Amino acid sequence: MNGKYRYYIPKITHVIALFVLSSVLIGIAGYSYFINEEKNIRQQKQNEIKAITELKIKQISGWYLDELADAGIISKNSFLMEKVDDYLKNKGILQKSKLINSISEIKTEHGYDDILICSLEGDLFVSVNNRIFYIDSLIKENIILSAKTNSTVVSDLFKSSAQKGKINLAFISPIVNENNQSIASAVFLIEADEFLYPLIQYWPTSSTTSETFIVRKEYNGKVLYLNELRHQKNTALQFWLPITRKDLPAVQAANGKIGIFEGKDYRGIEVFAYLSPIPETPWFMIAKINKSELFDGLYDELIIISTMTLLFILITGIGISLIYNNRQKNFYKELYNKEKELWQSEEKFKVTLESLGNGVITTDISGKVQYLNKMAEVLTGWNSQEAKGKSLSEVYSVKNENSGEKENNIIDKVLKQGVVKELGNHTLLISRSGDSIPVRDTGAPIYDVDGSLTGLVLTFQDETEKRRQLNLISESEEKYRTLIEISRDGLIIVLDDNIVFVNNAAIEILGAVKAEQLLGKSPLEFLNPDSIGINIERRKRMLEDGMNILNIEEKINRLDGNSIDIEIAAIPFNYKNRRAIQIIFRNISERKKMITDLISAKEKAEEINKLKTNFFANMSHELRTPFVGIMGYAELLLESLTDPDQKEMAEGILNTSIRMKETLTKILNLTRFEFSSIEVSKNYVNLCTLLENIYKQFTRLAEKKNLSFEKLICFNSLYLYTDETLLSEILSNLISNAIIYTNAGKIILSADVSKKNDINFIVIKVSDTGIGIPIDKQDIIWEEFRQVSEGTTRSYQGTGLGLAIVKKYTMLLGGSVFLESEEGKGSTFILEFPAPDSSKSEIENEGKMTETNNYPLENNSSNILEKKKILYVEDDLIAIDIAKRILSKIYEIDFSDTAESALSKINGNNYDVILTDINLGAGENGQELTNLIRQHPNYKNVPIVAVTAFASEDDKKEFLSKGMTHFLAKPFYIRELLKVLEDIFNKV
Ligand code: ADP
Repeated sequence: MNGKYRYYIPKITHVIALFVLSSVLIGIAGYSYFINEEKNIRQQKQNEIKAITELKIKQISGWYLDELADAGIISKNSFLMEKVDDYLKNKGILQKSKLINSISEIKTEHGYDDILICSLEGDLFVSVNNRIFYIDSLIKENIILSAKTNSTVVSDLFKSSAQKGKINLAFISPIVNENNQSIASAVFLIEADEFLYPLIQYWPTSSTTSETFIVRKEYNGKVLYLNELRHQKNTALQFWLPITRKDLPAVQAANGKIGIFEGKDYRGIEVFAYLSPIPETPWFMIAKINKSELFDGLYDELIIISTMTLLFILITGIGISLIYNNRQKNFYKELYNKEKELWQSEEKFKVTLESLGNGVITTDISGKVQYLNKMAEVLTGWNSQEAKGKSLSEVYSVKNENSGEKENNIIDKVLKQGVVKELGNHTLLISRSGDSIPVRDTGAPIYDVDGSLTGLVLTFQDETEKRRQLNLISESEEKYRTLIEISRDGLIIVLDDNIVFVNNAAIEILGAVKAEQLLGKSPLEFLNPDSIGINIERRKRMLEDGMNILNIEEKINRLDGNSIDIEIAAIPFNYKNRRAIQIIFRNISERKKMITDLISAKEKAEEINKLKTNFFANMSHELRTPFVGIMGYAELLLESLTDPDQKEMAEGILNTSIRMKETLTKILNLTRFEFSSIEVSKNYVNLCTLLENIYKQFTRLAEKKNLSFEKLICFNSLYLYTDETLLSEILSNLISNAIIYTNAGKIILSADVSKKNDINFIVIKVSDTGIGIPIDKQDIIWEEFRQVSEGTTRSYQGTGLGLAIVKKYTMLLGGSVFLESEEGKGSTFILEFPAPDSSKSEIENEGKMTETNNYPLENNSSNILEKKKILYVEDDLIAIDIAKRILSKIYEIDFSDTAESALSKINGNNYDVILTDINLGAGENGQELTNLIRQHPNYKNVPIVAVTAFASEDDKKEFLSKGMTHFLAKPFYIRELLKVLEDIFNKV
């Protein structure tokens, strides 16, 4: 109970002592309070009684002196003197009556009991009350004294015989005549009952025992009580007590004591009195009160105080006993809780020990086993009960893993030397069943509270898994070390900017012979100043922030002075508990060289390809120009010849040149792809009209091969938002192929709308019953220049460009193309384009559409038009001749072979149309000429037609955007030339 507990129980004797002490203190407090109260009451009564006494004394003294003064004044009254003198001289009845009358008035006025006029010797002359009596000897003596002293004398209280035993007080004064001789004495009798006694006996507060009285000291050793007492009758001037009774307040007063006195009264009762002489008189006043009354209230209070004191003592007793009980209760409660806590903590300790992953064995001081926890039981194979009392070396038998020797010196170390002993981690525990378990153990001494050794506690843990992991780690380390050593990538570890490790590859890449040449160097020393890697400072910061740097290319200077390119990765990591950087790098000089070679090879190939494309474009131009003559003349011949043989030959020339023209067009289209400059110009196109026109174009060709050509179009009107030229080109290629590769049977051009995944598609099919395409060729035919039958043995002519163009154009238009074909049975090429929504396709107005016109081969314009004036600027004589032959019958036509001559011609003429070649040899070309013509005021709006072998769509667009109004590609059909002019003039 010394600080262990918050509560403790005091000894019962202490509790009793405390109670007694408390009771004594309460008793003392109560008694002090009582004494104090008594003192207060005593003091209060003393003050009260003193005040009453002094007040009465003052009143009596005042009254006494007043009466004395009155007696003197009245006796000197001249009127009285006259009447007395008159009476004394005459002694008649009348004089007596007059005298009585006059003193009677005085009596009434002053309240005297009687007034006597006496002789100076004390004989009575008259009395107001007119009574005849003997003057008392006391009065007589005082009359003589008064006459003798010629002053007012006061008798003491006396029982007047004249007043029938009433107690009087007499004031005696001589009556003096005008000669100042005393002639008589006036005696003024005052009845004590009238004023003096009531004043003495009156008590201002209510009291049952209090009284005031006056006494006089008699000459004969007596103290005479002068008034009636409260508690005894007939005492006035009759009752006396001997002056020897010192316990009497009256005696004390008569002996001159002034102030408070406690003694016994005339009845022998304890009283509390105040004593004082009354000045000017021979009297002493005593005011007293019974002590019993004085402390009447105090006794009640004493009872209350005693009760209260007892009550307090009782409460204190109860309180102390309650606190005692409560403490006892709390103490036992705390004791219980402590016990419970102890039990819980022991339980917790026990459970902890039992559930510990480590084995725990405790022994006594002699090394005998006392306790094994669960894990110790499992590992040793002993259970706690069996092992108890056995020696530790028997239960916990260990040997060194490496030496195989027993190692049981733990008891010596711990118990004999009292130190904590930790065994090495090469310890094997030999369990009861003989198994060897790798363990790590610690032994520690156990001391009791006095500090003396009581045994040891041994803890050990199964390290089987840990050692297995360590083995794995060392194996893995070995593996990685080997990997690093044989790796072709260089690896260095950098610590504080110093290389601390290098592998073999790093030695080789960095141009060193041995590792020592590199260790301690900064990796930055190797960086070539021309390194293309990122800023070094930024890189350092990245590594400091723990970021990896991956696959950065650097140029470094090797130790042998050569510089090489490396690819590098740097990764921060913890190396021997410090922040290090692992840098992995490989020599990429070879690879870089290869890439550079590849890039230059690619650039070369692109250059060649460009040259090829330019070559094709130039070839196309150069071939097209002479074909103007071939096609033109063939057409003219065909029209003019009549001999069927000759006509057939002319037709042969025309067909050959048409084929050539188509080939050139395809080549040209191909070059456009290579420059990726095709512009798709989409518009709403009436698909029925477009298909109808294509169909018409090829009917003659099909008829010639005796093939039936059908068209199946499943809608009357459908507008497709597309590029009409490209779509026509696609269909022309497909139908042309179908005719070429079909020897018998039919060709069908069909169009329909179908739905796939809720989306409408326009499906256009070109089917034939031709030779078909073997499955293994169905992929390659889409490639440029590829055909089913290739090489010298090929059975069909053609360029192998048509389908490549079809595929590319289809994709440009947002569609797709498929092939279904079976060798020997025929092929179907299927085009799919997303259909515009139906509402749009039907309500588009005609104005927005581009209709494909079928131009008549026959020229009928000559009948319609008047002769218009045309200037044709052309340096090719054949072209000039052809044009002349075609146009001169219809138009008035001039020719210029240079821009210069053309410009001079337009000055002198008003041409309606100017046709111009673009390539005009030396001087300005057709485009420059157009610019110059447009500066001429008369030729601002004159139509200018480019007639050129620059026949691509791009060329056409360029010319039309730079001042020319029309375009005609060389070579051309006669009808095409006529159509251009007809259009121009019809508009005009
Ligand atoms: P070209 O017809 O000029 O050879 P294309 O690119 O148009 O070139 O066609 C490539 C090849 O595909 C043709 O050479 C031909 O072997 C094959 N081919 C094209 N269309 C058909 C078809 N309708 N029937 C059979 N074979 C075809």
